[in-house]
Formats: sequence, C-alpha cells, structure tokens
Amino acid sequence: MRAASKADVIKKHFSLLCELRKKYRIEVVTDEALSDPVISYKISDVYGSTRYLEFLSNELAIYPISIFTRLQLDRIVLCSDLQKHDKPVSGCASMSLFPDNLALRMFFWKNTVYLDIKYDGTIDGLVTIHHELFHAIESHDDSWPKYVDVDWNKLNPAKFQYRSEMLASDCSPSLDFEGFLTDYSMQSVREDKAELFSHMIVNLPRLETLAKKDQILAHKILRLKKILAKFSPDFDEQFWTTRQEGAVKGSLKAEYEDLLLPRLR
Ligand SMILES: [Zn+2]
Repeated sequence: MRAASKADVIKKHFSLLCELRKKYRIEVVTDEALSDPVISYKISDVYGSTRYLEFLSNELAIYPISIFTRLQLDRIVLCSDLQKHDKPVSGCASMSLFPDNLALRMFFWKNTVYLDIKYDGTIDGLVTIHHELFHAIESHDDSWPKYVDVDWNKLNPAKFQYRSEMLASDCSPSLDFEGFLTDYSMQSVREDKAELFSHMIVNLPRLETLAKKDQILAHKILRLKKILAKFSPDFDEQFWTTRQEGAVKGSLKAEYEDLLLPRLR
C-alpha cells in the first residue's frame, strides 16, 4: 500500500518537474546538494517537495510566461533547513553580477533561487517566492552597476537610513518611519524593493489601503510599477487589475498582518 502511494507521489513529482521545465524553462532541483560558500541546506523528502512543487507552480502561474524569458534565473532549488551565513532563511537568491558568464552559472550555481519547503502553504512561503523572483528580475541584464537606484532613496523620509548604510552594525532605523512594510524593508534599497514587490503580488488590495494613508508607500508602489513595466510590457495595468483579485484570504489574513510593521497593523 505504502509502496504504491509512494510510486504515485514520485510520478506526480516528476510530472510537475517536467511541466515547470517545459513551461518556464527553469530547472527545479529537488535531489541534489549544490555547493555554495554561504548557502547550506538539506535535500528534502519527496512527499514534502511534491506538495511544495504544487504550491510553487500556482504562484508562478500568476505571471505571463514572457516574464520568465527575461528573468535571470537558471534554476530553483527546493530544500530543507536552508541557511545563509549560518542563519535559517525561508529563501534566498544567488544571482550573478555577470548574468551571461557561463562559468559562474555552471560551476558556482549562480542565478539560482533557493526555497525552504517548510514554508509550503504559509504566508511567509508565498511572500518568499515572489521576493526571490524580484531579485532575479532586478539582475536580468548587463546593466552596471547592479542594484544601484539613487532615485529610490529620494522617496524615503529625509532622516531615514537603511540598516546596511548605518556605520554601527547594531544600529537600527526607527520602525515608525513611513514608507516601509516590514522590518526587512529597512535593510537596503534592494530588499525594500523585493519586499514591496512580493506584497504587491500577494496582497495588492491591502497594500493600496495602506498607501492611502502613507504617501511614501504610494509613491514607491508607482515607481516599482514603472520599473517593472520597463522590465516587461506584460507588467501592465491589466496585470495589476488581476492582482486586485488575488488578496490574501481566510486564515492567512491574520498571518499576513503579523508580517507588517506594528504601525501598519
Ligand atoms: Zn532578498
């Protein structure tokens, strides 16, 4: 009985892997431990990774296929006990600063997104998938220097500094500043944008309510929409209208509020 059901799971597992590869031309790795100097993880069991594959496939289906041909992404690794610099994380992206450098892509596993399957079905899991995809969007071409967006900082309150810009490593910005969704949004320009993007995908109606009371947030949403439209014309008004229907529902609603900064809840 057990063997038959495991065989069914394995069959489903491979059919999902094939589907994702065919549809998006992304290799999803579930059974191989790649070596990376700062990222570590364990191979996950087939039951867990198959459930996560369905979860991932539903989230990827939000985007028009054309987005994936522009993304800088070769593979997605699904794993357990994911850690970056020895700290547990729900996901991370390892993007090459030189997207078309074959050696970096092949030997150093750059252009890879790692996702911990423990977050399957959770709001953290949803946000993580889109957050990491944004890093792949932002790394998509040979523009140099990477991730520099001086105009983004101009949107922030005058006295605000990202954690990564502070001289003392134990310093932290006040959580009362307007224009930020989560604690991690205050880390750096790059993470602020990835956080905002993931929340625009996961819970746009809630975000728009927040933006009515927070002008900085409203301007950031507009700016990110412009950046995305430049990346692909398929990030158009129609795409965002569809996201209006994608609000977080049911039991996930309370979980979602917990992600936000206290001032926004
Ligand atoms: Zn990030």
